[in-house]
Amino acid sequence: MIYLDNAATTPVHEEVLEEMLPYFNERYGNPSSLHKIGREASNALLLARKRIKDKIKTDSIIFVSGATEANNLALKGVMHASKGKHLIVSSIEHESILEPAKSLEREGYRVSYIPVDRYGIIDLDAFEKMINEDTVMVSVMLANNEVGTIEPLDEVIEIAHKHGILVHSDIVQATGKMDIDTSRLDLITLSAHKMYGPKGVGALCIRDVKIMPIIDGGGHEYNLRSGTQNVPAIVGMGKAFELSDKFDYSRVKELRDYMIKQLLEIPNSRLNGHTNRIANNIHVTFLGVNGEDLIIKLSEKGLAASTGSACSVNRQKASHVLKAMNFSYEEITGSLRLTLGIQNTRKEIEEAVEIVRDTVTELRKVSPFSKHL
Ligand code: PMP
Repeated sequence: MIYLDNAATTPVHEEVLEEMLPYFNERYGNPSSLHKIGREASNALLLARKRIKDKIKTDSIIFVSGATEANNLALKGVMHASKGKHLIVSSIEHESILEPAKSLEREGYRVSYIPVDRYGIIDLDAFEKMINEDTVMVSVMLANNEVGTIEPLDEVIEIAHKHGILVHSDIVQATGKMDIDTSRLDLITLSAHKMYGPKGVGALCIRDVKIMPIIDGGGHEYNLRSGTQNVPAIVGMGKAFELSDKFDYSRVKELRDYMIKQLLEIPNSRLNGHTNRIANNIHVTFLGVNGEDLIIKLSEKGLAASTGSACSVNRQKASHVLKAMNFSYEEITGSLRLTLGIQNTRKEIEEAVEIVRDTVTELRKVSPFSKHL
């Protein structure tokens, strides 16, 4: 199988796995225990925190079960702790931001959604106009998980801090792939499994922010996330961050650019998103093709790809990101996301191009839409 769905998840790096393994059965201690076996585990957590802090500028790191929980904690935790009742989020955030935002609306908070243009870039003027005395925080992702567009986060921070509001960013699709200045972000969401770490672990990084827990219990993680820490997974996350400098995304970008060029030679194909996109992302529309049929056929032929966000696929609804970008029904239906990883080879990419070209041609022969092309 050629795996081009690295935005959904990545394989665990060999060196990450190697570091994790002893923490399942040899160094199995509970990090809260005071004895030697417990200390072994708490030292492992300390090292993981250090490794992440070496890359991400922050005061504290709260380990959680993944970016979904980190995003929930950021939004609900901050809003519940503040007097203000207004939150701003971009309209192309991941569901793990949009759903807690809706949940806050049901609790009586007010949420504004920043619109985006045809390329997925947020409207900064619209954002500034949304800010009022009641506004507490804005949440804007650094790189979109579907179309790969990189958002103007520096400008968001500039505007937000001028008006005294906090900035949260979900940077999970960008970590390890580009240089990120995290020094002015108030809250940052991280996940390990998009960067060759294990699934089921992530972190919320916090700098001088009032926040309430959303899970109560024994007071782990500075009283912000109770529950015995998942030590092997956290060890793996720390190692993935340590290794991330070595991930060669300039090679990935070259392969990605080569693939885009080849795919755009297929008639009636177009590239979606902005030219300033994350290094491994391709998002294309093949008019006259149904994206879901395409994914199934591609999988039968040995290529793993995605129609949009892997997390929303089960819901069978049109991508909220492409809708926010004002795409037509046909443009949304015919879309395909291919996301490369550091493990992909040139040979795989060449083969993948052939597979996509043949499959699009095959599907168009039987598609009712393609007659109109
Ligand atoms: N945010 C973004 C931008 C994502 O791409 C994802 C994963 N699809 C998540 C949050 C959720 O991450 P996790 O699986 O770690 O909960």
